[in-house]
Amino acid sequence: MSKNEKQQGGPQAEAPKMCKSEGCREKPSKFGFCKTHYELYMAGVIKGDGSKPIDYEQKLSQYMKQKQKQAA
Ligand SMILES: [Zn+2]
Repeated sequence: MSKNEKQQGGPQAEAPKMCKSEGCREKPSKFGFCKTHYELYMAGVIKGDGSKPIDYEQKLSQYMKQKQKQAA
């Protein structure tokens, strides 16, 4: 039993079909977030429920700057 170990329970075992982040229609990959928003969540830019903190834009721009540095 190692092939389909993720297939357990009913067909809909609380698996969200879309990313938790508001307005995002990507398929979730981790914690109900798509890849992009999962990274944002891990970076602390968005909250665990997909909502944006008050200083979201500040955090986002900080995150973008950091990412650019890493890519360089
Ligand atoms: Zn998303």
